[in-house]
Amino acid sequence: MKIETLFMDNLLPLDDETEYLISRIHLKPQKIHDSGEVYDFINQADDPVSLAKKTLYITQNKGAVIRNCPGTCHYTCCDYTILHTGTFCTMDCAYCILQAYFHPPVLQYFAGLDQIGQELQAVFRQNKIFRIGTGEYTDSLIWEKVSLMPEFLVKTFAGQKNSVLELKTKTVNIESLISLDHNEKTIMAWSLNTPEIIRSQEKGTASLTARLEAAKQAESKGYRLAFHFDPIVIYPGCEDQYKKVIQKIFEYVRPETIVWISLGTFRFMPGLKAVIEKRFPESTLCYGEFIQGLDNKMRYFKPLRIHIYKEMIAGLKAYAPDVFLYFCMEDEEVWEKCLGFFPGKERELGRLLDQCAAGRCNLNRALI
Ligand code: SF4
Repeated sequence: MKIETLFMDNLLPLDDETEYLISRIHLKPQKIHDSGEVYDFINQADDPVSLAKKTLYITQNKGAVIRNCPGTCHYTCCDYTILHTGTFCTMDCAYCILQAYFHPPVLQYFAGLDQIGQELQAVFRQNKIFRIGTGEYTDSLIWEKVSLMPEFLVKTFAGQKNSVLELKTKTVNIESLISLDHNEKTIMAWSLNTPEIIRSQEKGTASLTARLEAAKQAESKGYRLAFHFDPIVIYPGCEDQYKKVIQKIFEYVRPETIVWISLGTFRFMPGLKAVIEKRFPESTLCYGEFIQGLDNKMRYFKPLRIHIYKEMIAGLKAYAPDVFLYFCMEDEEVWEKCLGFFPGKERELGRLLDQCAAGRCNLNRALI
């Protein structure tokens, strides 16, 4: 989606990073003194979410740049660390939680490579493996064509020993990264879905084939890969469709370069339903058999989740028996029935993922 309005904090310096960004967006920024001006501009629209996707606000992160992933205590958490480089997204997935997470959502780019670099160096000095991602409140690579940030991050991670960066995306924006000396410290990760879900629910994202072609290109340059089936959507015939996606992954890339694959069925905060109904009236996403989970999110009825997970796991194991599979936010019964184990001890899943990172990436294994 094209940016049509550009705001920038009045106090933010014009430096290499911001000048590069502005010059490539081809818009003159409106300098503002108060973020409320952006909120007011977005809120006056009939559809603030759509306007927010075309309105970029260049600002500074005034909160924590690095923070723990907000997993809930009721479901197994992967102990991930978030590098907070921006919020919201220019693509438009019907199920996107960010539509209902912020009021209103604002497409923010957090400038400040120096600040980010310093905070990362403080993390790197700790004697511990960190798995760090930028794709929690945004897509990791939406700004790759206009920003110095992704290249800066890959280079910064390449120069340290203990941590990996995971760039999670539905784009194919890897051009500026592909020839970098990444030192096997960056995992390029793609969220995958069936062609039908991509076409009907993931507006503005790259096709499945394009994502896998990008993964193949990244693999050819030594990047490690990850895939995330999230959200898995249950619909008639979905089992076969997801199995075809799995088959297709291994037509493009080798199992040995995949660090992990996660699975998570569609879940949503009750408030998201009204947003989907209003913005995507054709979408049937919310009409499945749902129950409210312990974290108040609506999830598919558990036997349905177990069924689709089992089908997909059988497919994945047939092609890649050694690739680590894990669930995003599932309970003990689902883990046991589908994967045959449950990482129930505190930080156990995180430790297993650290092991995977150390096994596939160039990390200091003594830290596990
Ligand atoms: S790509 Fe991710 S962040 Fe962007 S709209 Fe889709 S779900 Fe939301």
